[in-house]
Amino acid sequence: MDAIPYGYHWVEDADAEAVAHALRSRWITQGPLIREFEERVAARCGAPYAVAFSSGTGALHAACFAAGIGAGDEVITTPMTFIASANAVLYQGGRPVFADIDPQTLNVDPAQILEQITPRTKALLPVHFAGLPCRMGEIAHLARRHGLIVIEDASHALGAEWATTTGQAEKIGSCSHSDMAVFSFHPVKHITTGEGGMVLTRREDLRDRLRRFRHHGITQRPSAEGESDEPWCFQMEDLGYNYRITDFQCALGLRQLDRLEFFLSRRAEIARRYRQGLADLGLGWQEDLEPGIRHAWHLCVVQLPLDQLAKNRKEIYRSLRAKGIGVNVHYLPVPHQPFYQRRFGYHPGQFPVAERYYERALTLPLFPRMVHGEVERVIASVRKVLQESRRADAVPRSQPQGAMQE
Ligand SMILES: *Cc1c(COP(=O)(O)O)cnc(C)c1O
Repeated sequence: MDAIPYGYHWVEDADAEAVAHALRSRWITQGPLIREFEERVAARCGAPYAVAFSSGTGALHAACFAAGIGAGDEVITTPMTFIASANAVLYQGGRPVFADIDPQTLNVDPAQILEQITPRTKALLPVHFAGLPCRMGEIAHLARRHGLIVIEDASHALGAEWATTTGQAEKIGSCSHSDMAVFSFHPVKHITTGEGGMVLTRREDLRDRLRRFRHHGITQRPSAEGESDEPWCFQMEDLGYNYRITDFQCALGLRQLDRLEFFLSRRAEIARRYRQGLADLGLGWQEDLEPGIRHAWHLCVVQLPLDQLAKNRKEIYRSLRAKGIGVNVHYLPVPHQPFYQRRFGYHPGQFPVAERYYERALTLPLFPRMVHGEVERVIASVRKVLQESRRADAVPRSQPQGAMQE
């Protein structure tokens, strides 16, 4: 039987056709499909402006630039994220500062953010871990009180929603409670452009800075004839990069966006089935009981009941991998990466909630293209491995919820 990966893209023949069509057109890089893709994502999320980039990491870097982050500025983020969230701050010469997570949501804990705010703090960079929205109301409140910029790393959360205390539904990416929100279109994410990313914003000034940064810091040529003595010259205003996405990538992105709702509902359905089929195993689940939450299910992360098991996490991981179940672990806390430990002297024990989560964490395979048989195979394999490694003296758990066929 084939191994089941932890994530996988879904590119159809019609998607490939759309890319081929773009490749045969007049423009293969800076053509009209980029603007169309930007407008469509912005409209889907409810933000007025979007700027597409060649990767999510490039988009994060651009957001840090647009926010004016520079030497000596501190940016508070979460230890439980992909390294790119924190690296983007370093690219601009800023310092990432980590605030521990909430044990239930696994998102950065607003109370911990408050503890880390200093006079040097410039921005907050929350990450909607696995696709579960952060408490944006509380984060925006902190930002207002301390005069901070908010950049959401929404790489896991295209399609996620939450509700304000007054019951107002809010989409991630609308930037109603932030200055910018960043998406990634890497193939394991909700929709793909191969490599790609985007920054959404409500602020025209940020949009203009983002556009310049993507294209070497160059401003648009003056449009009126004779405005310049040297009409062939362009003007470089900032130190930008080449972070441009291509037209044919956006052709793919537009097609993928058409199926976003279907992708989201498949992801939610699989996650629901996991939760039901594994309910009696003593696993820990990520959740937020606030009303109005829509989880985008980029990842399905569980926490192993290690105190009831005779095997450790590595042994469980290896047993499942040997059965062709592509489990994974997200993430080693960023401050414990060798580079961060060397540069900033971080040591174990500084982020106890993130560390405790990490020690028990396991990510189950989750992608829309998984077929029913694969989902059931993951459930059966996890059940078997955990039941076989149960300690003889472990307290028995309650019966499974819902119908289980062994
Ligand atoms: C995927 C991801 C990124 C970066 O995305 P790329 O498109 O691969 O550069 C950034 N932050 C988080 C949390 C991610 O998951």
